[in-house]
Amino acid sequence: MVNTLPAQQSQSQQSQPEKILRLPSDQDSSGRTLGAEEIAFLTAAIQSGTLTSTKGTYVKALEKQFAELLGVKYVYACNSGSAAVHTAIAAVDPEPGDEIITTSITDMGALTPILYQGAIPRFVDVDPATWNVTAETIAACITPRTKAIIVTHLFGNPCDMTEIMALANQHGIPVIEDSAQAFLAQHDGQYTGTMGSIGCFSFQQGKHITTGEGGLVTTNDEALARRMFLYINKAFGYGDPKPDHYFIALNYRMSELQGAVAAAQLPKLAGIVERRRATANQMTAKLQGLAGVTPPYHDPRNQPVYWKYCLRVDGQVIADGAVGLAKKLKEERGIFSAPRYIQKPAFQCEVFEQQRTFGNSRWPFTLATPEAVDYSPALFPGTFTGLEQVLVLPWNEAYTAEHIDYIADAVHQAVTQLS
Ligand SMILES: *Cc1c(COP(=O)(O)O)cnc(C)c1O
Repeated sequence: MVNTLPAQQSQSQQSQPEKILRLPSDQDSSGRTLGAEEIAFLTAAIQSGTLTSTKGTYVKALEKQFAELLGVKYVYACNSGSAAVHTAIAAVDPEPGDEIITTSITDMGALTPILYQGAIPRFVDVDPATWNVTAETIAACITPRTKAIIVTHLFGNPCDMTEIMALANQHGIPVIEDSAQAFLAQHDGQYTGTMGSIGCFSFQQGKHITTGEGGLVTTNDEALARRMFLYINKAFGYGDPKPDHYFIALNYRMSELQGAVAAAQLPKLAGIVERRRATANQMTAKLQGLAGVTPPYHDPRNQPVYWKYCLRVDGQVIADGAVGLAKKLKEERGIFSAPRYIQKPAFQCEVFEQQRTFGNSRWPFTLATPEAVDYSPALFPGTFTGLEQVLVLPWNEAYTAEHIDYIADAVHQAVTQLS
């Protein structure tokens, strides 16, 4: 390392000093659509003095508007994407030890709720070209104990729901669509979160629209809707003739403060998605044919929404692969990116590997079959390849042509230097 430094220095002295362009970020106002509309609704919510959604109007308005936007019958807001997934699993109501199929590449908030409901997460492999689960990888893991299938439309690109729903329907297993990264994404003309039994969404800071923290569940099924409404509300039967707390449940309600901001964010969503798509398509055109780097692939039946823009980096062509490319982008042009996304497959996190759950009990893992908790790398080739190759570039609706040129130019330059 040390003896290559002088050469690098003289090289950079020869070339023009590059201006570092600060890219809009979803972590602050530079890359968020929060403005006058949110402040107006929030002010009105505060002035009303009613901050609970059980009595206020904003959360109810949000639920109604989201149901209309997606064309689903029932929408309930809750206070995070994790709470949304937990609510969905609670609605499906697994018996202890039942298996819930899920992906080995996702946010932890989509996984621990399975354990809280006493079920076993059955991790399945992904397609390394899309980082999504497939009907094939799911089919290999269906057992008599499979209670539900959670599919995650990773990075805003839908799973192949045509094939997955055919498989699930054939087995009579409900599908939960984790659409936290996929607001308004479509597969074959249908929105994610409307094709399975339940959809889950997140308003976390870095999602397409945000309330800091927040979430939503969607369904067309009346019985699941009833259970989800109850689960978010301590299972108290508001409005029933003899209301009671019917089953174990939490308070997962969204407050009116979040509801006000979400109601103002929602009308902006379509524009956000449109702008992200347009710039992502420009980027893909600029990277076409660049050896060693593959722009994001999506099925022609999909309309992805680019939560992130993910490159597949070929380590045979590019020195140090995705890690090497990320380092160059950062060092040379100040561009942040995340090689390996979640670093390691979710099943290698301590909670699963060491079965750290309730006290020292290891429950519910004590109820699992050996196959359900077999995390041998040989069973997950797509997962390991996918994580090794992926370079996650942050994406944002505020990117301009100048930003796209800057990023594309930086990738070209880095690839040239590393090839
Ligand atoms: C963000 C996210 C979640 C969790 O949502 P929170 O609002 O952070 O709790 C779940 N699943 C996926 C795929 C996510 O991206």
